Amino acid sequence: VIGWRLWRAREDELWSWAVDYVWPSGPAEASCLLDAPFSGRERCASAPGPDCQCGFWGLWEPATCVNKARRDISTGALAPYRFQPVLGLMSGWGTVAIHGDEGFRAQRGAVVCVFSDAIWDAELDQLLFGRKGLHARVAGLFRSEARRRARWSRLQAVAARYGVPLVSLGEAVRLGVLQELGVPAAVVERMERNRLRGAR
Ligand SMILES: [Zn+2]
Repeated sequence: VIGWRLWRAREDELWSWAVDYVWPSGPAEASCLLDAPFSGRERCASAPGPDCQCGFWGLWEPATCVNKARRDISTGALAPYRFQPVLGLMSGWGTVAIHGDEGFRAQRGAVVCVFSDAIWDAELDQLLFGRKGLHARVAGLFRSEARRRARWSRLQAVAARYGVPLVSLGEAVRLGVLQELGVPAAVVERMERNRLRGAR
């Protein structure tokens, strides 16, 4: 299965969003990260365990990832100066627990693609929500050309480390990259419609 994800990039490494776990450059095997002494229950023998949150999470909708990143950063739950938020795609296989219309937890996972868009980029608003970026103007005030270049070169290092494509989400839609990677047609078509609506 293919899912959308957030990572935190540090140097050329991708860290999980919510836990301190560095993704390896090849296929990864999940283990239960439950804090056993505090949660009052045993760690799962293997991930994804039942009634747990372990395993590699992938979400069906990129909008869910972007909303979460924006929420976590604006509430201060995560400090973006310590890392770079990265939206990307993962593949999950082995045992996979499906979580309704939210996404899945997989036993095994690998990074498949990273997107170059910054989390506050206006193009994401257009593609994912079909609206002009409300955040764009504010974010633009803080974004210098030097920072933009630094961000791009870090992402290039990430893409090289993991051996995956680096592309903007808009480009990926335009070039048909998402379909090639196995993203469901309905998700891609919605973005395509939003993109065209924005171009008019
Ligand atoms: Zn678990």
